Amino acid sequence: MTLPPDPRSYDLDAARTRLLPERRGKVDDSIPQLADADPDLCALALALPDGSIRSSRQATVSFSVQSAVKPFLFALALLDTDGAALDRVGIEPTGESFDAIKLESGTGRPPNPMVNAGALLTASLVEGSDPESRSARIARGLAAFAGRELEVDEDVAHNEHLLGDRNHALAHLMRAEGTLEPSADDTVAVYARSCATIVDAETLAVMGATLACGGVNPRTGERVVPERVARDVISVMATCGVYDGSGRWMRAVGVPAKSSVSGAIVLSAPGRLGAAVVSPPLDEQGTSVRGRLASEALSDDLALHSFASR
Ligand code: GLN
Repeated sequence: MTLPPDPRSYDLDAARTRLLPERRGKVDDSIPQLADADPDLCALALALPDGSIRSSRQATVSFSVQSAVKPFLFALALLDTDGAALDRVGIEPTGESFDAIKLESGTGRPPNPMVNAGALLTASLVEGSDPESRSARIARGLAAFAGRELEVDEDVAHNEHLLGDRNHALAHLMRAEGTLEPSADDTVAVYARSCATIVDAETLAVMGATLACGGVNPRTGERVVPERVARDVISVMATCGVYDGSGRWMRAVGVPAKSSVSGAIVLSAPGRLGAAVVSPPLDEQGTSVRGRLASEALSDDLALHSFASR
């Protein structure tokens, strides 16, 4: 059997250069800070189990994490509820957009933790007696995944709380169904803050690598979540992480991933690496156009596809 290619010799700047001529996609304009994103930003980073990071140009340019935070909110909810979060949120793909106003019929639970309804719920399950302490616990948890403290962009958090009408609607609906405990407004505030966490491609790659390394941060050596939690989270990234594009993603890229409106994608290839690709212009499913192409190339060049026989 041939060994998989070594990611340490992969030329990420050359991969980035090949992506730059791609001009399709549209930058999200749901809040002014996202609308102002540089459409030419393009960065790739890999975080490896030996703790090393490989990155392209622009891999330390910062942006708000947005929905790429959802796997980590799910992980923290599983940790803090000792797995009981799995009774409170479904794990089936929806085939619908990320902010669809839809809950599981019969149970009133959100369909999965990778769509907004589910992430609002998992954020509410993280330990804390009020929104401030819950946000502080999320910040500590995200810092452990990243291996460093992360700041929150207060303007992004404020605008997402103010302008996130569909998130307010989803939170109210879950309250009405009896599936959400804290108030709708507090829930949206905590979720908006976590989406407003500032990262860069290198940091997001380390977060993905912590999941890929069974819950141990490969840079700090800290066990952030149990192996079983990391496995559960990666499984749901595989089936639901790219919303209504998850099937297409799994076929073409074959690496569990989570997309976001800031144009970042976090990938976790179990036992192999964590990766992040970032470029703001998005396709119809809210996936970064260059990020998808970069992920397909990474998967092919480094033999990362989960279902390839090698
Ligand atoms: N904060 C955004 C929202 O809730 C995140 C959505 C996303 O990245 N797809 O609308």
